[in-house]
Amino acid sequence: MRIGIANFSHESNTFAADPTPLDAFRIYRGQAVIDHYTHTFHEVAGYIAGAEEYDFELAPLFSANATPAGPLTVEAYETLVGELLDSIRAAMPLDGLLLALHGAMVAEEYAQADGETVRRVRELVGPDFPLVVTHDYHGNVPPQLVADADGLIIYKTCPHIDQRERGIEAAELVARTARRNVRPVSAIVKPPVIFNIAFHNTSSGPMKPLMDAAIALEKEPGILSVSIAAGYQYADVPWMGPSIVVIADGDEALAQREAERLGEMMWAVRDQLVPRIPSAAEAVATAMESSAFPVSLFELGDNVGGGSAGDATIILEELLRQKADGWVVSLYDPESVQQCVAAGIGGQVDLRTGGKLDSQHGPTLAISGRVRTIHDGTYEETERRHGGARYGDQGLAVVVEVNRSAPGKGGLLILNSKRVAPMSIHQITCMGIQPQQQKILVAKGAVAPRAAYEPVSARIIEVDTAGATSISRPAGKFVQARKELYEWSK
Ligand SMILES: [Zn+2]
Repeated sequence: MRIGIANFSHESNTFAADPTPLDAFRIYRGQAVIDHYTHTFHEVAGYIAGAEEYDFELAPLFSANATPAGPLTVEAYETLVGELLDSIRAAMPLDGLLLALHGAMVAEEYAQADGETVRRVRELVGPDFPLVVTHDYHGNVPPQLVADADGLIIYKTCPHIDQRERGIEAAELVARTARRNVRPVSAIVKPPVIFNIAFHNTSSGPMKPLMDAAIALEKEPGILSVSIAAGYQYADVPWMGPSIVVIADGDEALAQREAERLGEMMWAVRDQLVPRIPSAAEAVATAMESSAFPVSLFELGDNVGGGSAGDATIILEELLRQKADGWVVSLYDPESVQQCVAAGIGGQVDLRTGGKLDSQHGPTLAISGRVRTIHDGTYEETERRHGGARYGDQGLAVVVEVNRSAPGKGGLLILNSKRVAPMSIHQITCMGIQPQQQKILVAKGAVAPRAAYEPVSARIIEVDTAGATSISRPAGKFVQARKELYEWSK
């Protein structure tokens, strides 16, 4: 038995300033898919491990993914989906396909691009071909996608640390389907709520009992898989919002009944979904008064893993205004990196940095300092962290000492040349910074950085800031999203 494996993933923020072009994608073809993913915690690693466990031959086809940002250009989507389809066609005959799609991809001409991808794949392979799809927990699943696939399996953790297990589960489902051991039938329910990202942590809060119920249901007879996607609120698309997907073995009524039961459970917690989160001024003051360090401040409005700019200055400006010491902030600013490289290690620089990509993420600041480190910006993560990646690259990067009147005074500003989400602590340790020796670490994210930052932080404070991923004030208006959705948090 021979099963194709492919990956085409992007989380697209329709409130981000710029579209995502073709050259933003990292692409692997054929054997390179296996070489890149085998030693990661990504679901494609789970597909690979599953081949051995469930005794099938792998046909590695194609992989493309890019850092979250705006919707894909027409050229990017059509080129990549075209190559995906060509790779499937060339590998035929196959006995089934495992397809990793993010679930929140938007292309300029398709609001629900993953649904369009699955539609085209199904059209190519025909109605009786086993097709199992995996999604990120932040997918905005359209019902038609669930109808077009034989099974949809979604990560159960946020931060996402179970991707590999979900990949193995998908491998089992496609193998059992291809062998006619099971006949998967699915139901999807989409409760009319916006499950705010402030509540996406699966280890606490209103999501934990829902996920516990999903996991308990999977142990019931006749149930093959139960998934909950929290949804992705930074995309104005028709099926924005959470989804509950139940896969049963041949019993459509059972799948529908159980999906509706979990949907009622989610609807019942809707009043718990209003975030109360401090401003930058409040959070910095609280961090400075803390008795234990470091305190990590999560900058919610500039959630790089959610598609924002990566150069927000809102917390940095407060750290400077309140004269905080011992802070570490990262900004995406390739122009300032070049200026620091030109000055050399030990050189003094006068920078205008941050707030350059758009007008949503705070002002550009005038900052002077001394260049302390220049680094190629690559690092390796061997622990299980959100996203499952092993190889990190923030591009050519520098550390600038700011207001460093004495050791421990002032702060350390990391400037990098590639937008990078703070999913690995090695993004800062590779720059020669020991997190436990600092007082305030700023991470541009919401829930995802917890896997990397909880082990080194005395405390984490989420901070309500403006930006393309603001949790309380969307950067744009919803036009396409369903009107019946529970009101966006005020
Ligand atoms: Zn996610």
